[in-house]
Amino acid sequence: MLEIKDLHASINGKKILKSLNLNVNAGEVHAIMGPNGAGKSTLASVIAGKEEYEITKGNIFLEGEDIEELAPEERSHKGVFLSFQYPVEIPGVTVTNFMKTAINETRKAQGLEEMSAKDMLKKIREKSELLEIDRKFLSRSLNEGFSGGEKKRNEIFQMAMLEPKLAILDETDSGLDIDALRIVANGVNKLKSKDNAIIVITHYQRLLDYIVPDFVHVLHDGKIVKSGTKELALELEEKGYDWIKEEIKEA
Ligand code: ADP
Ligand code: MG
Ligand code: MG
Repeated sequence: MLEIKDLHASINGKKILKSLNLNVNAGEVHAIMGPNGAGKSTLASVIAGKEEYEITKGNIFLEGEDIEELAPEERSHKGVFLSFQYPVEIPGVTVTNFMKTAINETRKAQGLEEMSAKDMLKKIREKSELLEIDRKFLSRSLNEGFSGGEKKRNEIFQMAMLEPKLAILDETDSGLDIDALRIVANGVNKLKSKDNAIIVITHYQRLLDYIVPDFVHVLHDGKIVKSGTKELALELEEKGYDWIKEEIKEA
């Protein structure tokens, strides 16, 4: 699904990613952890194609296609979803109408017809029930006056509606109470299938009690310095990141 090879990326001339390698297969959930400032959000932004970042070396392949030259919208139409893509408030546009537009724009870009109103309603009903989203919530203006938890829930709703091939959740857990956390995790777990892949970026192990990753990677100073299974996340929770820095120094 995703192959990142020797990726180097900068912002404002500052080198952030330094020879990062990562392979994510369909059907897998990967967690990326690491200290603040390691480059986790940069990695997510570079995969999504945010234009302020410059790739100075290396490649990003999505299903074998080099996507480096593609605009963020084009990547999104190919099935890349980054949480917090639309944090903006849009007064007068309801959650439902926003979702309809997002889905139909994606379908158009993929050469598909608009989804019928009936199918759209069915899908909205199905996904909102799955995520325990209240009907009233669907008719509210997008992000206007949303609490932190409501914003996160809306993101997960977008993800569930768009059914991306590659979903990247960047610290979707921060600021969530336990109930909201469970709903977010539930949404992610239900999205998971043999045909898609999910990357969960998190600073803390907590979310991984609910979303069990197949692989855990530690990002430190712009590269992945250690990979393992979910036990690695527990070890990080217990011991912090300093021992990894020591390991790197010794190596
Ligand atoms: P993380 O998500 O792991 O906390 P980030 O990817 O947000 O890390 O940041 C990695 C590094 O890039 C940090 O040192 C940060 O200060 C720097 N950085 C991020 N955005 C910018 C920017 N717009 N200009 C300059 N430096 C930036
Ligand atoms: Mg940070
Ligand atoms: Mg970050």
